[in-house]
Amino acid sequence: MSRSAVPPNLLFIMSDDHAAHAISAYSTASATGAARARPVINHTPNLDRIANEGMRFDSCFCTNSICTPSRASILTGTYNHVNGVTTLVTPMDNTLDTFPKRLQSAGYQTAMFGKWHLGHGPEHDPTGFDRWRVLPGQGHYHNPVMLQPRPDGRGHTIVERGGYVTDLITDDCLRWLDRRDRDRPFALLCHHKAPHRSWEPSRKHFSLFDGIDIPEPDTLWDDHEGRAEVVQAMRMRIMDLDPVVDLKATVPPGLSEDEEIRWRYQRYIKDYLRTIASIDDNVGRMLDWLDSEGLTENTIVVYTSDQGFFLGDHGWFDKRMMYEESMAMPLLLRYPAMVEAGSVCDEIALNVDFASTFLDLAGLEVPAEMQGTSLAPLLAGERPDGWQESMYYRYWMHDDGSHRVPAHYGVRTRTHKLIGYYNDPLDQLGARGPATTPEWELFDLVVDPAELRNVIADPAYRDVAIELRIELARLQAEVGDEPHSGAEAVLAELLAAPA
Ligand code: CA
Repeated sequence: MSRSAVPPNLLFIMSDDHAAHAISAYSTASATGAARARPVINHTPNLDRIANEGMRFDSCFCTNSICTPSRASILTGTYNHVNGVTTLVTPMDNTLDTFPKRLQSAGYQTAMFGKWHLGHGPEHDPTGFDRWRVLPGQGHYHNPVMLQPRPDGRGHTIVERGGYVTDLITDDCLRWLDRRDRDRPFALLCHHKAPHRSWEPSRKHFSLFDGIDIPEPDTLWDDHEGRAEVVQAMRMRIMDLDPVVDLKATVPPGLSEDEEIRWRYQRYIKDYLRTIASIDDNVGRMLDWLDSEGLTENTIVVYTSDQGFFLGDHGWFDKRMMYEESMAMPLLLRYPAMVEAGSVCDEIALNVDFASTFLDLAGLEVPAEMQGTSLAPLLAGERPDGWQESMYYRYWMHDDGSHRVPAHYGVRTRTHKLIGYYNDPLDQLGARGPATTPEWELFDLVVDPAELRNVIADPAYRDVAIELRIELARLQAEVGDEPHSGAEAVLAELLAAPA
């Protein structure tokens, strides 16, 4: 198959915190993919349409598993130490080069609706879009206010909306599409707020799953033995969920701790999945619209999320971590002119690859400053020689005082993962606590895909750990990031030859 001579349209749908194991298209994830061993717990027929008519990526990862930084990497095609958006409190400079700006310059009509979360004001409002309307910050699920540019182009104005946020964002997208210039290609970014905390369903889905128990993840009772001490101290356990805000209920009296965890998990996961049911319905509306307009063949439809999420896995909620459930992004892409229906790709793909991919598919030059690699060959069913066999990850936001997740960096190959917790707040805004001794984790993803056994101190893994250390250094040099000297010293000691 070859790409069309007519520039393709792009419909980029991104949700917030939607883990791949909450999409039924991932029920049959390939043997080596990141989503394996994590049973899917819901049914998403419309998202599955994109997979069934396009390609499902089983090893797509974000390079920093948190909202604002991942969004910046997607738009700019660069790592966070390059684009400067390392944490939730570092908004994006809107003069940076992005793929929407380049599509707009090339004659595309461009728009974005929904969650922006890259800052507001003259230096951070969306740029590169003919039209935009966004939620302020995280925004609200019900009757949200939204921001849109003032007619005179100076700053933004507030619009009050009645209804449910996922419906409203889709309404805005479809209205803009209906009014588009039919003689030019479009690039539309539809950014859903759902299924972000605090998981508030639409009226339509309030009682979905009533009377049903959602299966518990295999690792719900993980006691974190052998993992880094800073990992054991994190505050993302099911018992850390707020009964009022997160669970919207009073904990029934008289429960044992295990019973309470089970009860909390059901409250949490049902609301999470209910908000996804609305996304699925609304994605269906957009796919139906493309069909009715005869645009299906030449429109690239993407469904992804800014990162994954712990769905009770390891006893946690939230993300941030370099563990699989958090760093794996769902990625479904339909483009009938190029992509074989029902295909699956298990090669490593990254959020920094998206910008290069979209420019490449539009027939545009990919600027050298974009650090990602176009996924176009994979989409065409090829396996290029020298395709990335490893990836670099860095979570910068050291201990926010709430989730207590430590900053860390590491390397994931197709078989192993090495993570260094440097336990140093550096100069990160909002970081708490003093520096403590760095710690390392090593997982063998082949024999331990659930990441339950840290083998960094196991002599049988010394050679593997040395190879990973070299690969980590190579990747850091390649992307231009700096190692942490204290953490590297600890690793060198761990891997020193026995006396
Ligand atoms: Ca997110």
